[in-house]
Amino acid sequence: MVAYVGDEGVEFDRTVFYPLGGGQAGDTGWLTVAGQRLRVTDTRKSRRPDATPDDAVHLLDPAVDWRSRLAVGTPVHAEIDWDRRYRHMRFHTATHLLCAVVNQLVDGCSITRDYARLDFSMTDLLDRGVVQAELDRLVQAALPVTCEWISDDELKANAQLVKSMSVSPPIGFGRVRLMRVGDVDLQPCGGTHVGNTAEIGHVRVAKIEKKSARTRRVVLELLD
Ligand SMILES: [Zn+2]
Repeated sequence: MVAYVGDEGVEFDRTVFYPLGGGQAGDTGWLTVAGQRLRVTDTRKSRRPDATPDDAVHLLDPAVDWRSRLAVGTPVHAEIDWDRRYRHMRFHTATHLLCAVVNQLVDGCSITRDYARLDFSMTDLLDRGVVQAELDRLVQAALPVTCEWISDDELKANAQLVKSMSVSPPIGFGRVRLMRVGDVDLQPCGGTHVGNTAEIGHVRVAKIEKKSARTRRVVLELLD
């Protein structure tokens, strides 16, 4: 049901769409209203002052007259572009494995349909063959990916859980979600993941480069 109508799109009382955040791209997809389909071009976090991190703005094509069809209270069937989202989930879970393999703080992250890119704050060299072999091993290990919740205070008392310098965990709402990947990675994360590392499938270390004197960039791609 439409809960709020903004300049660029609409918010619903609940949604399956993931808004851009934590380096992961926002979902695209379709809304069906009274038998007509409207394309959602992107999803962003709501900027309304009373919004929670789960409130998402579904952006619609400005060339289409969607306002007349999406008044507050209108029931809507929302469907994400699942092929694209599933690649985000595979890539995103692969970045957790990469964190485990490299074991350095992250200071930049981008997860899209076509690649995942992580920047590690480090000066040592990374060997592409070693990183690839370790990633392959962890994918094949079929590790379960699960979530658990801790309080803001517990997170503050365990600051070593935060592995990203560029994305702050969503504290201020009482509790924070931690993602656990087998026994190799545990960190606060609000993104979307597959349920088991085997689902990542064929991931390839496409490139490792020196982004700056203190940063190593690793780019992953999916081979299927
Ligand atoms: Zn994650």
